[in-house]
Amino acid sequence: MKTKVLVTGGAGFIGSHTCCILLEAGYEVVVIDNFSNSSPNVVEKIKEITGKDVVLYEGNVCDKSLLKTIFEKEKIDVVIHFAAFKAVGESVRLPLKYYRNNLDSTITLLEVMEEENCKRLVFSSSATVYGSPKTLPIKEDFPLSTTNPYGTTKLMIEQILKDLKIADDDWSIAILRYFNPIGAHPSGLIGENPNDIPNNLMPYIVKVANKELEILSIFGDDYNTKDGTGVRDYIHVVDLAKGHEKAIEKVLKEKKLDCYNLGTGEGYSVLELVETFQKVNEVDVPYKIVQRRAGDIASCYADPSYALKELGFKAEKGIEEMCRDAYNFVKKSKN
Ligand code: UDP
Repeated sequence: MKTKVLVTGGAGFIGSHTCCILLEAGYEVVVIDNFSNSSPNVVEKIKEITGKDVVLYEGNVCDKSLLKTIFEKEKIDVVIHFAAFKAVGESVRLPLKYYRNNLDSTITLLEVMEEENCKRLVFSSSATVYGSPKTLPIKEDFPLSTTNPYGTTKLMIEQILKDLKIADDDWSIAILRYFNPIGAHPSGLIGENPNDIPNNLMPYIVKVANKELEILSIFGDDYNTKDGTGVRDYIHVVDLAKGHEKAIEKVLKEKKLDCYNLGTGEGYSVLELVETFQKVNEVDVPYKIVQRRAGDIASCYADPSYALKELGFKAEKGIEEMCRDAYNFVKKSKN
């Protein structure tokens, strides 16, 4: 029998790429998604890419009776929990929306998993839980803190998971702390395409290149970095998806709770990313320098060695491929 994975938020940016990787690796995939920030069309694209079927439940992870139905019908072996609100700025304006949704959905999911005796989980966390790190690169045992409600929901859930593991040693949990996922599937069929004005750098660059937005604002060029602009650890979303496959293998094999950085270990500045994007795609991305964005830090990049040692995970795709695939997806979806 194939191992069956429930993927919450499986139609989202990282979720959809992970579904492809899992299907290609021979797992059965069940998706629950309410399409609050995605569309059913993505599930069709996953099937097109892989030639495999996906069982889809449209609904909210906060809906306990729906989760019960899924677990009873599908006999789930392991869960990857992506579904969450993720816009930092919105979380500052609407904190209750974020605490209600992100915490409620996770607690409901964990209750049902416990009741159904399915105690293997891969959780989507974020490098945002490191707050403003004192030194770089960031290791998993660095102190944790947050600067916005979105980040706090991730940190609170990490704590809930740790408490759960203390209470019941049967749980097997991998907490994945993502750095900055960008890029898209090389097929150009799935990728990141926010409906609203993007908050994140790469979706904004793509829309400027595509002439949907006029000009990119670079938030500050007076940081203590190589060229004054912010430095981040960008990771190709397909590499990130492969990290989830490794994490699934880990939770199936070992009953422990552990946290892993998923990044490349390389830092690129905003200007470097913009310049690489222009070069590989032969397109203009007009930009202007504006004030720093509140809450931003100068630099953030991972020490990826623990994920390599423990999961056998190493990101392989470089910044040029990330830029090419990100633009390819948007050009393709426009046609
Ligand atoms: N950034 C920028 N202009 C934008 C969006 C982001 O200059 O329109 C910068 C931001 O200040 C940071 C980097 O790009 O240095 C990555 O920001 P993003 O929001 O993509 O991710 P974060 O690291 O903040 O989660």
